[in-house]
Amino acid sequence: MNSDPATAAINQEEIAGNTVSSDRPLQAGDIDTLFAQPAKEPAETVINAVDVWKIYNPGPNETQALKGATLDVFKNEYLSIMGPSGSGKSTLFNMIGALGKPSRGKVYIDQVDIAQLDHNELAWLRCRKVGYIFQSYHLIQVMTCLENVTLPMAFAGMEAEQARDRGVKILKLVGLGHRVLHKPAELSGGQQQRVAIARALANQPEIVLADEPTANLDQHTGQEMIDLLCSLKEELGVTIISATHDLKMLQRSDRILWIEDGQIVKAARPDDIDFSTSEFDH
Ligand code: ADP
Ligand code: MG
Repeated sequence: MNSDPATAAINQEEIAGNTVSSDRPLQAGDIDTLFAQPAKEPAETVINAVDVWKIYNPGPNETQALKGATLDVFKNEYLSIMGPSGSGKSTLFNMIGALGKPSRGKVYIDQVDIAQLDHNELAWLRCRKVGYIFQSYHLIQVMTCLENVTLPMAFAGMEAEQARDRGVKILKLVGLGHRVLHKPAELSGGQQQRVAIARALANQPEIVLADEPTANLDQHTGQEMIDLLCSLKEELGVTIISATHDLKMLQRSDRILWIEDGQIVKAARPDDIDFSTSEFDH
């Protein structure tokens, strides 16, 4: 599914209009792109990654974590990204979430090339536009749940009392209204992941990136987490992008992309997939 920026731009326009123009022959990427449309209209994109490469430690011992990954993420879709360990999922998340710089290629968020943004604009984007949920929660241990959740609000300049009120509201939303003053170590894994979700929602992001959010959770808690992410999408209109192997997450998503060795190799809708094969964890 690699394509040069020009082809990607054409494909993007065509997706928006839901047509492939008849004035040029179908190309290999067209099929994937059409197939990969979300079930719902409109098909407006919020993220476009075009031929993204990421090379760690360039030189004789370099790791090519991404090798020309190209993908579009549509507004208000729930996109799952699946791939074996080491295939580049977390690196891709860092790139499309503006946490790191690609070695080559472009990432657009709301059609803006994020390489063009200055420090302040990037900080604004990371603070307000995107919410991040990590596999290992990344909570600040010396802070209470409420402080963890209100910290990004403080960064965004919200006044303390308003932040506190909003923090309590969000913690209630994720079912932790009774744990606001507890510290992470006093909570179960599932509860800590809820705090991480609450923190990701602090500044009402339009996009939530969740990197294997159910990996450290038991089945029941994992299911609750999926329900919560789905309700964010349905009720708040958030775009959810999640890296996962979790069959239940895959089944609930609108679209699944496969990443292998740093490249997006396949796209499909859950309805078109046979989940009983050994490819999927059970
Ligand atoms: P996944 O999330 O699918 O397990 P990652 O994106 O974490 O994959 O890693 C992709 C490849 O890049 C792996 O070979 C990994 O060892 C390597 N890698 C990831 N982060 C770094 C880093 N900061 N420095 C060097 N190599 C890294
Ligand atoms: Mg990872």
